[in-house]
Amino acid sequence: MDFKEHIRAIPDFPKPGILFYDISTLLAHPTAWRAMVEELAAAIRPHRPELLVGIESRGFLVAAPLAYALGCGFAMVRKKGKLPGKTTRYTYDLEYGTDTIEVQDDAISPGQRVIVLDDLIATGGTMRAAIALVEQQGGTVAAAACIIELAFLQGRRDLNVPLAAMITYDR
Ligand code: AMP
Repeated sequence: MDFKEHIRAIPDFPKPGILFYDISTLLAHPTAWRAMVEELAAAIRPHRPELLVGIESRGFLVAAPLAYALGCGFAMVRKKGKLPGKTTRYTYDLEYGTDTIEVQDDAISPGQRVIVLDDLIATGGTMRAAIALVEQQGGTVAAAACIIELAFLQGRRDLNVPLAAMITYDR
């Protein structure tokens, strides 16, 4: 299956100069979405995850069906202020300013084998931050995975874990 046929590229969203890769069309196509989940499952299964962590918000759409398929737990990394109860935050640098993500304190057990998932990796800043947060909580991050990798931005280069990407754009 050519998954690229199921991804819609929208120019100048959310701001001028950004080519936004919209996975809505993939999610809306039952056969393509099932095939994508199965391909991701095959890629991450060898890492023997116990817990899948999804990054808000499209990472939830990727991690939740995979956790169900693989029989793993699922946990959320969210933007600050959205999770109830005790949480731990991690602040990271953006091109302009900073961003803060958080996880619930009881979401990750020490030594638990975790895979972090998002829809897309661009510069890798979001994925790096989520991995750092999971590690800070005592999790062992076995791998990261995503549907789309913008390889020309070299986000993979600065990850400290292997990255599985199902679709790659080279420019
Ligand atoms: P980055 O931290 O630069 O790797 O950006 C990755 C995060 O931003 C992911 O959560 C993506 O959902 C989102 N993102 C960045 N660039 C794009 C893009 N061109 N199309 C869709 N989502 C994007």
